[in-house]
Amino acid sequence: MSETHIHDVIIIGSGPAGYTAGIYTGRANLKPLILAGMLEPGGELMKTTAVENYPGFPEGIDGPDLMENFQAQAERFGAEILFEDATKLDLEGPVKKVTATDGEIYLARSVIISTGSAHRKLGLPNEEALSGRGLSYCATCDGSFFEDQEVAVVGGGDSAVEEALFLTKFATTVHLIVRGDKLRASKIMADRVLAHGRVRVRYESEIAAIASCAMANGAGEAVVGIKTVDRSGNIDHVPVSGVFIAIGNDPRTSLVAGQLELDRFSGCIKVMGRSSQTSQRGVFAAGDVIDPMYRQAITAAASGCVAAQDVEHYLAESAPAHLEAASA
Ligand code: NAP
Repeated sequence: MSETHIHDVIIIGSGPAGYTAGIYTGRANLKPLILAGMLEPGGELMKTTAVENYPGFPEGIDGPDLMENFQAQAERFGAEILFEDATKLDLEGPVKKVTATDGEIYLARSVIISTGSAHRKLGLPNEEALSGRGLSYCATCDGSFFEDQEVAVVGGGDSAVEEALFLTKFATTVHLIVRGDKLRASKIMADRVLAHGRVRVRYESEIAAIASCAMANGAGEAVVGIKTVDRSGNIDHVPVSGVFIAIGNDPRTSLVAGQLELDRFSGCIKVMGRSSQTSQRGVFAAGDVIDPMYRQAITAAASGCVAAQDVEHYLAESAPAHLEAASA
């Protein structure tokens, strides 16, 4: 089923970039339609606890509260929010088509892609099977299951350090498995984790295997330990019941594959200079999906603002879609 109404702009994604683009295009009276996603509206910050570095909140603010504010602000300026996923995009021509999980095809003169990024996987053979059975990508979501137990966190960046610190609220010991010889996290976070009595950092180590055994209730296997190997080849078996993987993210670009140019190295959507203009006219991109480097809530929000302004200029300069379509 296809809507006949042609929106000025459809925004795909509801992290800081998507909602900020919604606030700005809403204030520009473009009545943005935001496809916020079915399962994880609000993006990565929904899985975070205190956000201490978002300006304007000197005492910090919980990630989900911050995203609720973003959403409310976008709605205040007339953004229509649908909690659906986009499943297919047709980005060519003056009228873009966005197919959503509700079965509708939404039409728009411009599209902002702000689909964020997805958790990187370790690539171990039983990773998928153990997910939700002791293996997790989100301490905020699953940490409380590990009260008085030992857990491991993999990674040495801000995400891993944040996960490790959060898990100290529950776990007796948190083993932080870092493949490099130092933490890559920001100094303030690194210092906090290194000073924490319940975190044990294992440098130059990787998880070679995750041990599991059958659960008593017959619901498959659950994590019972990890086998680590260090740079000298020393092997250790650590009895943990939880493994949290925080080794970074990859941009979510499957929806635009073959339609937009991607960066060869990072896989991010390519944009022109400091703008949000992609390789396709009328299609703009913002947030983590274009950013291999900074990936902060504030930089994502700023790039959502850039995309909104680029859309405004594009719409002002291009003929209304029905006229362009007729002359095409
Ligand atoms: P990241 O900075 O890219 O760090 C990824 C970590 O995982 C690195 O230590 C990396 O090791 C390790 N790693 C990657 N692949 C691995 C593998 N296969 N096996 C073992 N280890 C592996 O990712 P991030 O921590 O998710 O952070 C991403 C961005 O978000 C950063 O800019 C960060 O500052 C930001 N962030 C900020 C906050 C905050 O300010 N509160 C919170 C979270 C994230 P190598 O160093 O050896 O590559």
